[in-house]
Amino acid sequence: MDLFEYQAKQLFAAHGVPVGLGETADTPEQARAAAERIGGVVVVKAQVKVGGRGKAGGVKLAKTPAEAEEAARAILGMDIKGHTVHRVLVDPGAQIENEYYFSFLLDRSNRTFLAMASAEGGMEIEELAVERPEALARVPIDAIAGVDKAKATEILTQANFPAEVIDSTADTVVKLWETFVAQDATLVEINPLARVASGEVLALDGKVSLDDNADFRQAGNADLEDTAAADPLEAKAKEKGLNYVKLDGEVGIIGNGAGLVMSTLDVVAYAGESHGGVKPANFLDIGGGASAEVMANGLEIILGDQAVRSVFVNVFGGITACDAVANGIVAALGMLGSSATKPLVVRLDGNNVEEGRRILTEAAHPLVTLADTMDDGAEKAAELANSAK
Ligand code: GDP
Ligand code: MN
Repeated sequence: MDLFEYQAKQLFAAHGVPVGLGETADTPEQARAAAERIGGVVVVKAQVKVGGRGKAGGVKLAKTPAEAEEAARAILGMDIKGHTVHRVLVDPGAQIENEYYFSFLLDRSNRTFLAMASAEGGMEIEELAVERPEALARVPIDAIAGVDKAKATEILTQANFPAEVIDSTADTVVKLWETFVAQDATLVEINPLARVASGEVLALDGKVSLDDNADFRQAGNADLEDTAAADPLEAKAKEKGLNYVKLDGEVGIIGNGAGLVMSTLDVVAYAGESHGGVKPANFLDIGGGASAEVMANGLEIILGDQAVRSVFVNVFGGITACDAVANGIVAALGMLGSSATKPLVVRLDGNNVEEGRRILTEAAHPLVTLADTMDDGAEKAAELANSAK
């Protein structure tokens, strides 16, 4: 999960990383009131989860509350690289003397953590990395040893930070590492990390990505989620603990195991080419336990998608045998009752397949068609979706 700048800065502040303490505003009037409370020059900043806001006109300095209101009016509603601005951050305006760059990230390709730092911040780091790679220090961080003041000093020295800011900035870097570890982040980035007129070095921007796999031990993560932006079906699926991703097509997909579901998407898309161009409507992996409840939850989500015209259930029985899955389907259809309205194509294979098919044949539910193979199932589901168009 990526955070907004204002959320990133709140986390920074909580861990002692110096930031300007601003306020968010959803209307120009709120921005004006915030500027009045903050006093002096403020900076009004678009809150969208994309970089390059400055260049796009989403960051404006304002000398008075009236100017802040004006700036917010210009920025709210703006489209920045496909993201609409619904909120601005009004921060105390800083008088910038130098802009630096600093980040910690998970370096997957090298199976380690990495610090990246440069005394030449401000510009987009991707550009700097290409144009002046020697100006960007890259220092691997040992997960066990972490970052103490000595390590932080080493990184900043390697990145050519001016001698007079290294000592205080090293403290900030240690706190940034503490933020990274404590929040289970995969990225914490400050660009610019700026030396301001008072001599202080502050985080003027903040970018944080949190590891969703750590949600179970990060109770605070739920509050950071941008529920307004989430797809309502995806949000509902998440609530029910389902691995669901909404796609654009008409054929609902339920499978077990990410690999099988991915290949199911492929065969359905392929079959759709000869059936009016229908496509998969979603990814849904119900995992190992295909209980009636999980099946009912999955079906409910998929049938809740207005675009869905047919559903393909493609399950390979392993630890959860086909008879359990078949019972799950029958029970799920019973639980859903009249809210189950779309035809279901079911392909079962693997452990106890005969018993599974017998159960479905015997139940003879009017919506259910059995398919012998994955290709047959995809073909049938695509055909049903097309004829229901
Ligand atoms: P980004 O373009 O999305 O990375 O947004 P930033 O938060 O980094 O802002 C872009 C640029 O605006 C920064 O590089 C700064 O040069 C400038 N900026 C941001 N905050 C302030 C501020 O408080 N005072 C001044 N003078 N400039 C600022
Ligand atoms: Mn920035």
